[in-house]
Parts: sequence; structure tokens; C-alpha cells
Amino acid sequence: MSTGIYIYNSLSRQKEEFKPIKPPFVGLYLCGPTVYGEPHLGHARSALTFDVVVRYLRHKGYKVRYVRNITDVGHLVNDADEGEDKIAKKARLEQLEPMEVAQHYANKYHEYIGALNTLPPSIEPQASGHIIEQLKMTQTIMDAGLAYEVEGSVYFDVMKYNEQHHYGKLSGRVLEDLQASERSLEGQDIKRNKADFALWKKAEPQHIMRWPSPWGEGFPGWHIECSAMSSKYLGETFDIHGGGMDLLFPHHECEIAQSVAACGHEPAKYWMHNNMITLNGQKMGKSLGNAIDLHQFFTGTHPLLERAYSPMTIRFFVLQSHYRSTLDFTNEALQASEKGYNRLMAVNKYAKTMVYPAATGPINTDLDAEIAKVCAQLDEYMSDDFNTAQTLAALFELTAKLNSLKDGHIAANTLSADTFALLKEKFVVFVEEVLGLKDEDAASDSGVTDGLMQLVIDIRKGSREKKDYATSDKIRDALAALKIQLNDGKDGTGWSHL
Ligand code: ZN
Repeated sequence: MSTGIYIYNSLSRQKEEFKPIKPPFVGLYLCGPTVYGEPHLGHARSALTFDVVVRYLRHKGYKVRYVRNITDVGHLVNDADEGEDKIAKKARLEQLEPMEVAQHYANKYHEYIGALNTLPPSIEPQASGHIIEQLKMTQTIMDAGLAYEVEGSVYFDVMKYNEQHHYGKLSGRVLEDLQASERSLEGQDIKRNKADFALWKKAEPQHIMRWPSPWGEGFPGWHIECSAMSSKYLGETFDIHGGGMDLLFPHHECEIAQSVAACGHEPAKYWMHNNMITLNGQKMGKSLGNAIDLHQFFTGTHPLLERAYSPMTIRFFVLQSHYRSTLDFTNEALQASEKGYNRLMAVNKYAKTMVYPAATGPINTDLDAEIAKVCAQLDEYMSDDFNTAQTLAALFELTAKLNSLKDGHIAANTLSADTFALLKEKFVVFVEEVLGLKDEDAASDSGVTDGLMQLVIDIRKGSREKKDYATSDKIRDALAALKIQLNDGKDGTGWSHL
């Protein structure tokens, strides 16, 4: 059966029709953060890309099990097999327990990524909570003859694997080139070949995060966690594996090799990778020293930022480009996003409350057809490899129509009742449910706040008229404690957040 949804598969390097293995169920695994630093714009792009994938698939009726892991062990400083563990290093520098570091930044990740209105994952496994599964998979790969132990560490035998399988099929890297180009790093001489990667690493005496294993005390390699956890929660073969482009090699290439070695087949049917964020054409990243943290965006506290940008402005900014394009950060682009977001949400508010007039006149069938066409495009664009950029452009076409309706340039009864209902429904669903944009204006977040504030303002007005200043002062002070300010004007009293 045709789903009509097309995904660019990094494995085949082309768009393929999405065919879930067991519809209506869809398994999606996203490589989550290594929790050793503040979440930044790169984290946001990955989380938002796959948030929209999950949202759209659910909108289409699929039951998505969305697994996003937390890497709290095994990710070494240079992304290869040498150097200190990223989290252990931070713990040493800050004199904290490694798990304190991991928890601290996992909390930050949840707070800031959550502020972007991302849906929580269905399951969020931590690498340190799945040591047994990782040991088991390592053993299975050894039993298959594709891994070997040396001095308490276990390495994946890439050369041997490549005799029967294709190491490099995802990234397009050629093993011979890898063998020649791998940098010579301390300790690598114990590996049989330069391209071999660690499944288990022996813990040196000073290493804090360590677990017992058949090969002595140590810790898992970085790549094995995702293979062990994805197969545990989604099965040996699942639908979609996602992550940032920077994870394509070596992380995802190694994941494929591990699954093939342990289970005899690849882990995922579709591999999706979001592109990077650039700053003046340069890749933005923690390791490059030019990453801007999300809290710096929200507060405007970074030398490159002209001012603060709200979470929904960031969300809109990210969704304005297709996930496979690079996204260049500039203050101008963010300010344009803020304007676009505000325009869209103002119209969304109107769309939610507009009602079809009772009296109908002659229907403008051209306008009907035009609106129905753009409404259909919303699905077409999202089904075309989750093209949020084009979907937003279509929403802006509808925005123009909705504004004309609002201003009376188009009389509502020139549309058929069906088209009017379609326009209203599609617009709100795509803005809120599919693209996950929410109204940031706290005053209108539910209508309840507005109503309650009006009640408080009326009580205060009444008490002042009765010269009951104790009550009116009490109201003012209590609101000030909630960081709400009342503004008295000649047309009445308004309120704002301090
Ligand atoms: Zn991963």
C-alpha cells in the first residue's frame, strides 16, 4: 500500500517511498546528546528535525515509538577511540561525580530543548543504564569472529568484516583510504588495524566510570550503546534511524557494522541526517568554539547576538530551511524569523475563532479551488521528505487569504462552507500540531489567563472606587511577586510580564 511519504535515505542516497515494516507502527531512533555541555543550536536542529518527523507521522496516523538516547558514557574526547571520556573530563575539571555532570546537562537539555516545544521521546535510555546489553552484544560479535580482545579491550575487526560485508556503505568511505589516513594516536598500536574501533575499553587506574566485564574492568565504546539500545527497544530491524550529519561517520557506519555482525542484518531501513548550522559559512560547533548555547539565544547573552530570541523564533528559524540544507545563522535571519512567526501566529489566532456566516451568497469557485489546492500542498510538501520550508511558504499563502478574510477584502460567504472549514482546520493543525509552533504570548496562552487577569483587574478597580486601598495594594504586590505589572491607562488597565 502506498503511503505517499518519501524520505531521502542516506543509505541509498535517494528519496524512497516510506514503507513501515509493521504499519501502523513506526520505530524511530535518534542519537541524542552527549551530556557534557550546554545544549546549543546544533542540538536544537537535530531535535527539531526529528520532532517534526514524529509529529507528521503521528498526524498521518502512525503509532511512532520515538527513542532518543542520552550518551553519558563512552564518548571520548576526539570521537575516535583515544583520549579521555568527555563526561569524565568535565567531572575532573569541575570536581564533580561524572553522573552529576551527566544529570546536570541532561536536565539542561530537557529544559531548553523542551522550551522549543519538542515532544518528549517515548523512551529515553541512558548508555550507563545499558551496560549489560552492550556487553552482551560485544560478546555476540566476538562469538561471530568479528571482534577480538587485546589487553582488556575489545575491538571490532573492520578488515575481517569487510571481507564479507561492506564497511563504508553509508558514508561512502573506502577502507583502504581510512587505513592510510587514520591519524596515528597513542595506544592504537594494540589494534590489529587502524580502522578497528573499540566495543569495550579497558579502564586505566585513574578512569572513574568503570564496570566489570569478562575482559576486566572497563567501559563501553561509544558506538555500541546505540546498537544495543535501539535493538532492545525497537527490535533488530526498525524503520528510521536519525541523527546529525556529523554522526554519519564513524558513529552510524559503526552501528551498521555492529548490527550486521551481531544480528546478520542492518538495523534500520531508512537513515536520515540533518545538516549542520553554519556561521558566516563556517560550521558551528562546540569543538570549533563558535557554538551559541540555547540559553544564550533566549537571554541574548552572546557577543554575536544583537539581542535575545525566543524559543519559538528559534523553532521557526530552524524549520524555515529544509533539514538537509545547511542553515546559516545571522541576526538578520533570526529577526526575519521572529517577524514571520508573529505574523503566522496572529493569523492562527484569528483562524481558530473565525466562523462561517449564516447567510451565503454566490460562491467564488476559483477562490475555492485555489485555497483547496494550497491546503493539499501542505501534505504534499511534508510528504516530500518533510519539507518544512515549503510547508511554511504554503502557510504564508494561506495567511494572505486569511488576512483578506479578516479585513473583509474577501467576504467569508464567497467561499463554500467546506472550503472555509478546510482552511480553518488545515491551517491550525499544520501550524500547531505538525510544525509544533505555539503561541508564545503568555497573555493568550489559553484564554484562561486573560479571563483571570480581567477578573483581578475588575476587583482591584472596585476596591479603589470604594477607597479600599489595602485590597488594591495587596493585589498589586501579589502580582508583582508573580512578575506581572499592571498598567493603568485612560482606556482602562492592562497588564504585562515584568
Ligand atoms: Zn548514536
